[in-house]
Amino acid sequence: MRYIAIIGSGPAGCYLADQLLRLAPDARIDVIERLPVPFGLVRYGVAPDHQGSKAVVRVLDRVLAREQVGFFGNVEVGRDLTLAELRSLYDTVVIATGAPQDRRLGIAGEDLPGVTGAASFVGWYNNHPDHAEPPLQQVRSAVVIGNGNVAVDVARLLAKSHAELAGSDLAPDVQQRLAALPIETIHIVGRRGAADAKFTQKELAELGTLSRASTRVAGVGDPAAIVGDSPIVEILRGFAADTRELPIRIVFHFGLAPKAFVGEGRLQAVRFTRADGSEEEIPAELAVSCIGYRSVPCCSAEPADGVFASDNGRIEEGLYVTGWARRGPSGTIPTNRTEAQQLAQRVAAETVEHGRKGGQALAALLAERGRRRIDHAAWRAIDAAELAQAAAERCRHKFDTVDAMLAAATPAA
Ligand SMILES: Cc1cc2nc3c(=O)[nH]c(=O)nc-3n(C[C@H](O)[C@H](O)[C@H](O)COP(=O)(O)OP(=O)(O)OC[C@H]3O[C@@H](n4cnc5c(N)ncnc54)[C@H](O)[C@@H]3O)c2cc1C
Repeated sequence: MRYIAIIGSGPAGCYLADQLLRLAPDARIDVIERLPVPFGLVRYGVAPDHQGSKAVVRVLDRVLAREQVGFFGNVEVGRDLTLAELRSLYDTVVIATGAPQDRRLGIAGEDLPGVTGAASFVGWYNNHPDHAEPPLQQVRSAVVIGNGNVAVDVARLLAKSHAELAGSDLAPDVQQRLAALPIETIHIVGRRGAADAKFTQKELAELGTLSRASTRVAGVGDPAAIVGDSPIVEILRGFAADTRELPIRIVFHFGLAPKAFVGEGRLQAVRFTRADGSEEEIPAELAVSCIGYRSVPCCSAEPADGVFASDNGRIEEGLYVTGWARRGPSGTIPTNRTEAQQLAQRVAAETVEHGRKGGQALAALLAERGRRRIDHAAWRAIDAAELAQAAAERCRHKFDTVDAMLAAATPAA
């Protein structure tokens, strides 16, 4: 029997397990996840009001339920065992740990209260147990730095009304915090021009449909003055022509490079520079930088420039990498499936049987260390409890601490 361990149960890890089931039917595959709950950023990144995108968890969950697949939730490589130990138990190990940390801008004032990164902010509104509430007192103006869909998600969640969040899995306490903000303006700021923005059409256009928010493009009197001919530019021209007066304004700015976060004891403004060297300061009590994510070390495996270097997914003999840990924060969920199809061929062909013991030995090691493993049945118990405790107009109420998740799980088999 060949044994393959995948570290990380996000889309990259689950899709790889799925492909390996087809290409290496003789292999036993274990998916190891630091949290008691699977699915990575599908659960903790994809916006709570985009349940259509989150629905992919049904596909991923079917993979984890397969007999040849073992789920080892609540097991962190680096905390509960080392990568070297894991490799001694499996014929092949694949790192699919994502890119969980915010890239920093590296400018003055980045640690001021009121300045946060997308990983923390999105993690908070998605109930990730590692991310506490950011300081949100009296936010009238928010600056969202970045021109991708994560920036759009953050702006939309700040702007949506209570009714527009019906059917989401946004926690009631998070909703209350957001609803209590006296927010009037949300600035979305990009370093480059409108034609270079990385938004996708559907996500960007949705911002123009919100009940409480109108849209503007800063410094644009005539919408035709926005340069470019892409569908995104067309949507932005429509935003620039918006004359509605609503409680919140979403204002797009282009060609502004962040220079400093400014404030005495907490954020008061964000300073930007233009290509001609002139400066602009936007007053703000909250700034969320949505400029990308980077991987963190996995024991002896160290990322460089935010990703684990590899030769087409192979780090060295018996050690591979996939997903955001391999290519950084790019692409959508299906990108991970395409990559998994290619990597699985390689892993299936190159994995050699060494007479190791795989999951059986891992379970014994964890038991010896007093570490509680959450298996698939235990995860399903957590899942059922979250669905059962959903508030009115919510599809789920996620536990926001590991202890609460463990309490809801049935004892591991
Ligand atoms: C805010 C946001 C919104 C997004 N929205 C969309 C969207 O609407 N549609 C879309 O298609 N894509 C979206 N994406 C992109 C999508 O989420 C990613 O493409 C995808 O999640 C990357 O998959 P991954 O498996 O590489 O990483 P992740 O999803 O991050 O999974 C990594 C997993 O590894 C686990 N892990 C990490 N370290 C360890 C360790 N040492 N031991 C054990 N386990 C570990 C983590 O807990 C996590 O579960 C979004 C991303 C973000 C950040």
